[in-house]
Amino acid sequence: MTLRRIAPAALLAVVLIVPATFADDRHETENFIVSAPNKQLARQFGEYAERYRIEKAREWLGEEMPRWSKPCPLVVEINPRRTGGATTFTFSPRGGVQSQDMKIFGEARQLLDSVLPHEITHTVLAHHFGTPVPRWADEGGSVLSENDKERLEHDIKCREFLNASRGIPLRHLFPMKNYPSDTIVLYAQGFSVSNYLIDLGGAGLKGRRKFLEFLETGMARDGRNWDAAVAKHYSFANVDDLQEKWIESLRTPPVARGKAADDLRKAVATSDPGRRAATIADVRSTASLGIPQLEQPVVNAIRAAAPSYEADKQSPRASEWKSGTPAGRDPAATAVPRLLAPEIPSK
Ligand SMILES: [Zn+2]
Repeated sequence: MTLRRIAPAALLAVVLIVPATFADDRHETENFIVSAPNKQLARQFGEYAERYRIEKAREWLGEEMPRWSKPCPLVVEINPRRTGGATTFTFSPRGGVQSQDMKIFGEARQLLDSVLPHEITHTVLAHHFGTPVPRWADEGGSVLSENDKERLEHDIKCREFLNASRGIPLRHLFPMKNYPSDTIVLYAQGFSVSNYLIDLGGAGLKGRRKFLEFLETGMARDGRNWDAAVAKHYSFANVDDLQEKWIESLRTPPVARGKAADDLRKAVATSDPGRRAATIADVRSTASLGIPQLEQPVVNAIRAAAPSYEADKQSPRASEWKSGTPAGRDPAATAVPRLLAPEIPSK
């Protein structure tokens, strides 16, 4: 995966020696230099990357981004066993993206449908702010750009985490500069809160623009201006008030109805053996629905006390900012207090 760092002569030698299936083919587009296992894939990923670059910028900013001064290297690894991606940004001390670098790995369809639009959204947010974006919003906003199935997965996961007392209080989630040890919770909760606020702000481009303005206010005072931000842009008393209303919104059954939504739930249920077993029990108790009810209502989630929490003081070097797991995860991330979900009360 580091072939592109080898000098061209060495690269040529490697390509000639190794069998064709391992060759790292390249394709250049206006804004990307794609390396993929073969020419056809490199071209396909280049086309998709350019298309998402236009689409996601329009969705978030209402306009396309100008051509990047330097094309972004995009390394594609086709790997059926693990899925993920990471985009590394270098920010100029005066603000603005100096350089960026993207790596994605997984099964081709999944990469094209979910991972690539996710990573491209990181570039849109980085371009807009010109500075590191709060982790929860950077990942949450990027998950919003994935396909329906992934968004449903994250909605389900968020409810499961909250009910399992794994939720992170928003007061601690919002200022986080590093990934917490329970990284997946930041993704699921970041998605859920972003989605909630964007809907509240009128959904679509209107809701997203309002959300970006809210982030800008929250990022003031070294990323700790969130009480003022939620009050200014969404009229909540403070972050705790937002948390209460957001959780309240998760106590209700899912909004998505109809055959397409049901098919999606079925697809998600059958893609995870553990969840499949759980839904069989669930179907029994909600037999009248006839479909697995995956998006469990959040029950009785309250905030934990915060005994030994220390703000993540090991902020990364200001100019370097990497999004994504597992590479972007900070192994030294501090433990954080959890949103507790005590016993589900009997009805
Ligand atoms: Zn990401």
